[in-house]
Amino acid sequence: MLPDAQTPSEVSPGSALTDQFGRPLRSLRVSVTDRCNLRCNYCMPQEEYVWLPRQELLTFEEIARLAEVFTSLGVEDVRLTGGEPLLRRDLPQLVRMLAANPRIRDLALTTNGVLFAEQGEALRAAGLHRVTLSLDTLRPERFAALTGRDTHAQVLAGIAAARRLGFPKLKLDTVVLRGVNDDELADLIEYGRGVEAEVRFIEYMDVGGATEWSLEKVFTRAAMLEQLTKRYGTITPLNENSSAPAERFRLPDGTVFGIIASTTTPFCRSCDRSRLTADGLWYLCLYAQAGIDLRQMLRGGATPEELAARISSIWRARTDRGAELRAATGHRGVLVEIEQLRQDPHLEMHTRGG
Ligand code: SAM
Ligand code: SF4
Ligand code: SF4
Repeated sequence: MLPDAQTPSEVSPGSALTDQFGRPLRSLRVSVTDRCNLRCNYCMPQEEYVWLPRQELLTFEEIARLAEVFTSLGVEDVRLTGGEPLLRRDLPQLVRMLAANPRIRDLALTTNGVLFAEQGEALRAAGLHRVTLSLDTLRPERFAALTGRDTHAQVLAGIAAARRLGFPKLKLDTVVLRGVNDDELADLIEYGRGVEAEVRFIEYMDVGGATEWSLEKVFTRAAMLEQLTKRYGTITPLNENSSAPAERFRLPDGTVFGIIASTTTPFCRSCDRSRLTADGLWYLCLYAQAGIDLRQMLRGGATPEELAARISSIWRARTDRGAELRAATGHRGVLVEIEQLRQDPHLEMHTRGG
């Protein structure tokens, strides 16, 4: 916690900090590492990458101090991500520090699950509220082909651990690729029902790092709904009024699932998310070309008030709506070519945190 004398003034109720489209600053995704123990073809198709220098990574104290500033400005939801966040040593210690911040209403983690069976208990004890695990396939050989690794059983063990540990509102995220795993939607829904988790199908996005992306490989929201309607019958949209990226639907038997259709049906108009990279760059959009260097300010001795003033003025000016602009692009192809990614790893999805 910051000493009282340094605590930045709160955004008073009714005067929420909003951007140019009236979107509040509510959710912060914190990438704790750019490294990963999988090589999902849609995210990290290469084996080797230019990694962020270790000395440039924010310490846990620095992350907690920035979280104090962000939450003083209205952020209530903090999600730890990466890369693979469980590769960051002593992660429960960071969770403990963030869990002590009473303004954080929802402290969540997104993980590929490989190490979750080992670390879930310590994370729960440290105060982690929720977890989302990525699961693209139920077939071990398909997992190996998609991720380049042979750890499917560990992912399933991670999901079982999350359930056993009693994490509420468990979610399983599946990126659906045409011709790769688009025949597993119903199987994944059935599996999710069995482990009491809500499955969310994500359209393949043309984010930085997705160097093998093409429109033909996107299994669209419409195709998902068509396939699931054939299998289950009428699907009812829940029509929730929320800023959450997933649109939720109910099957005739009551099972609820979600679709995150960032590629064909972007939801930028309600986007209250921003991202902090492991080395302290703040991005206003998944598609933003540049971030704001908060580490430099922090290490240069900026006070919480100075940080808060800079963050507020930048958020107030925000006009980002990357996915909408991409969707309006006529001839859509790979967003960032590999040579450019090598020169600026911050353009990678695994660096800025999905
Ligand atoms: N490594 C962790 C994981 O996989 O859950 C956290 C980081 S990962 C970048 C966060 C999410 O981004 C994952 O659910 C992943 O499937 C998703 N993702 C990565 N690349 C994507 C792409 N090109 N299109 C859609 N989702 C993507
Ligand atoms: Fe896969 Fe997540 Fe690693 Fe990307 S960061 S390669 S999505 S496990
Ligand atoms: Fe938000 Fe950018 Fe994603 Fe749109 S593309 S939902 S503005 S992060």
